[in-house]
Amino acid sequence: MPNEPSIAALLAWYDGNRRSLPWRAGSGEAADPYRVWLSEIMLQQTTVAAVIPYFARFLTRFPTLAALAAAPLDEVLALWAGLGYYARARNLHACARLVAEAGGFPADPRALRALPGIGAYTATAIGAIAFGLPGIPLDGNVERVLARLFAIATPLPAARPALRAAALHLGADPAAIARASDTAQALFDLGAGICTPTNPDCPRCPWQAACAGHAAGIAASLPRRLAKPARPRRFGAQFWLIDATGRVLLRRRPARGLLGGMSELPGTPWRPEPWTRAEALAQAPMPAAWYHHGEVSHVFTHFALTLGVFSATVSCIEADGYLCPSAALAAEALPSVMRKCVALAQGNAPMTGKRR
Ligand code: SF4
Repeated sequence: MPNEPSIAALLAWYDGNRRSLPWRAGSGEAADPYRVWLSEIMLQQTTVAAVIPYFARFLTRFPTLAALAAAPLDEVLALWAGLGYYARARNLHACARLVAEAGGFPADPRALRALPGIGAYTATAIGAIAFGLPGIPLDGNVERVLARLFAIATPLPAARPALRAAALHLGADPAAIARASDTAQALFDLGAGICTPTNPDCPRCPWQAACAGHAAGIAASLPRRLAKPARPRRFGAQFWLIDATGRVLLRRRPARGLLGGMSELPGTPWRPEPWTRAEALAQAPMPAAWYHHGEVSHVFTHFALTLGVFSATVSCIEADGYLCPSAALAAEALPSVMRKCVALAQGNAPMTGKRR
């Protein structure tokens, strides 16, 4: 029978092994709620490695919450371009304005949860890390650690109530209450560095003697998951239209919905059936000698997209949208999928790619 997992043992391990991350306060320093919140929003659905350069650029441009709140949304979207899940950037901006107006982040998970872009997980994480409020945030890393520690073999998502109960049990340990911020971050670090998805390094784990999954020899198979249905496919075409002065036609996507508020090359709707060349060109922004460069692939959470990319050069563009000098495209709020299309139209694209 494994021992009861000790938060004191976890914290002792953390004190000697904590990761140094740009948003993390040093040992014994007070956390900055602005950095904690910004990093937690960026880390939703996104890896630490992908977030680090974006976090640095945001802090350089918006060193304070007030600076972010005062910025136009377009600038925030442009700086976010490439990080994906763009509703996060719109909510980030709306949240910054509300919090700046209120004079700071509330030290209360309920009030945090009422803010744009902050769900139950993020409220618990900010509450614990920035304000030391008791609570164990259950992200994918922590779910994996707890599923193994308590040998929870029910597949996800049905395992969530058992995982929440396990988190409540651990969070009630007096050491977890006394050092709530470190406890949350210790669990993140244990999941990221020791209790990794495919090959947990149990001999180096402070909880090896307490781990029911390790004792049963099933740790690496946990957490179990129900098989996901195949991702549906969609098809479309995008048009790179450039005029004699080197300006490219762009459009702004509707504020709500997928890639809301971001810039794009004009294109067809994205539908389940492939487009023939004639069908696609019937949707081109204007008649021209369109050249087909090939296809770009991109994977969103709920579907996989294949886009044909066409280009044409005309003396004068007469179509809906706005014109952007091609040299200024880097500053546009173009999401990754559109950057792939631009690169292909300019002759230097990868033909396939993933969201991140
Ligand atoms: Fe994960 Fe192994 Fe530690 Fe259990 S003993 S929590 S499986 S690393």
